[in-house]
Amino acid sequence: MTLDELWTAVLTEIEFNISKANFNTWFKDTNLISCEKNLAQIGVPNGFVKDWLENKYKKVILKILRKNDPSIKDITFRIQKETKKREEKSVEELNQKLNFDYILIDQETGLNPKYTFESFIVGSFNEVAYAAANSIIKNLGLLYNPLFIYGGVGLGKTHLIQAIGNEIKKIYNTKSIKYITSEKFTNDFINALSNKNVDNFRAQFENINLLIIDDVQFFAGKEKIQEVFFNIFNDLYNKNKQIIISSDRPPHIIPTIEERLKSRFQGGMITDIGYPDFETRVAIIKKKLDIHKETLSEEIINYIAANVQKNIRELEGVLNKVLLYNKIQNNLTLDVVKKIFEKGSKKIKKMTTFSNIVKIVSEFFDLKEEELLTPSRKSEYVIARQFIMYLLRNELKLSYPAIGERLGGKDHTTVMYACKKIDEELNNNEEIKQIYNNLIQKLYLTNC
Ligand code: ADP
Ligand code: MG
Repeated sequence: MTLDELWTAVLTEIEFNISKANFNTWFKDTNLISCEKNLAQIGVPNGFVKDWLENKYKKVILKILRKNDPSIKDITFRIQKETKKREEKSVEELNQKLNFDYILIDQETGLNPKYTFESFIVGSFNEVAYAAANSIIKNLGLLYNPLFIYGGVGLGKTHLIQAIGNEIKKIYNTKSIKYITSEKFTNDFINALSNKNVDNFRAQFENINLLIIDDVQFFAGKEKIQEVFFNIFNDLYNKNKQIIISSDRPPHIIPTIEERLKSRFQGGMITDIGYPDFETRVAIIKKKLDIHKETLSEEIINYIAANVQKNIRELEGVLNKVLLYNKIQNNLTLDVVKKIFEKGSKKIKKMTTFSNIVKIVSEFFDLKEEELLTPSRKSEYVIARQFIMYLLRNELKLSYPAIGERLGGKDHTTVMYACKKIDEELNNNEEIKQIYNNLIQKLYLTNC
């Protein structure tokens, strides 16, 4: 790969992950000057861009560079008065990505056969979504279109929407189904673009009867890819083809998603998956034991169900660990299980920090951290700032005056009001509750 090709690969990927305005401001007149001794030198037009790229994009740029050339270990930015205009060239190599899932996944449909209704437990937390799924199967494309399912991390969105796909594949004996995550959709499109086979990319969505698109919140802030998706969506929708979408939040609180796409999402049926109650968690554990042909005492099953409440993926993780111990020692006792939990919980309950809270909230609302910390009265900043205050108070136990001081010199009464307000809303307002749960999950449960 030449320097120009390498840089084109980086820019292509970045272009699809940030807004057009951002891309033009920060990346337009950049180029790759050299790649020597594991160091990539990037030419930038001025000091302002240099600082910004260094602070905001260095990690991302390095990551993409390393994907294409693993020998690169670091990057520096150099101001060039005359930036060389880069040649517009395609990059073949972008396509080479390792994906171990391919072993299981049906290449034609993208479906993973392990996600079925047989292994899916239904409880009050997901029964509406489940019922909607079943109606869809009987009335493909005609009843709820699109079906939009949202909920927090690890609660069964992927499982449910893939199970619909697998069920349709089975009962209609068809493969005209496409399951894809919005992340893969984005990457595949970028690759198609650089390989000049966009037509092939589009063709895979042309003759299908069902499109399942997972984690659509990933499209937030990516104008170009939203446009591509919008066209595919419309095309299928107009032909009465079924579309199923999942997201970690409802459509109206996905930041920077185009209005027309949002209203499309809202045009069908929107349903959420909540948190499983204790009995359902017990049922899920028993189902998994069945599948693995293993047994555990009621006492241990109940203990696990009582202690892992908010994430089924985590529930599975804990169960697998317990089963491993069960294999090593016969007659696993509750005391040993408790010890496993003690060991694990130190890791699970990570500490969070001031900057982490600000970062997570700003990313969630797609707002700039700097502006959240200065007095802007725009309404979207107000609510985001109230969440920051609430989290600082509850998660870090900071005092009201200390919070006020760190958020640009706010009075402690403002902080008290914000905390009280969020507290009240959490009891009455479903949407605020969703946002809160999402933020907490991002603070503690994901590996970022
Ligand atoms: P999400 O997509 O919402 O993050 P997943 O669908 O990946 O969550 O689910 C996480 C794990 O929990 C998966 O292994 C899945 O099989 C399991 N799981 C989720 N919901 C259920 C359920 N209702 N019954 C049985 N297993 C479930
Ligand atoms: Mg998922």
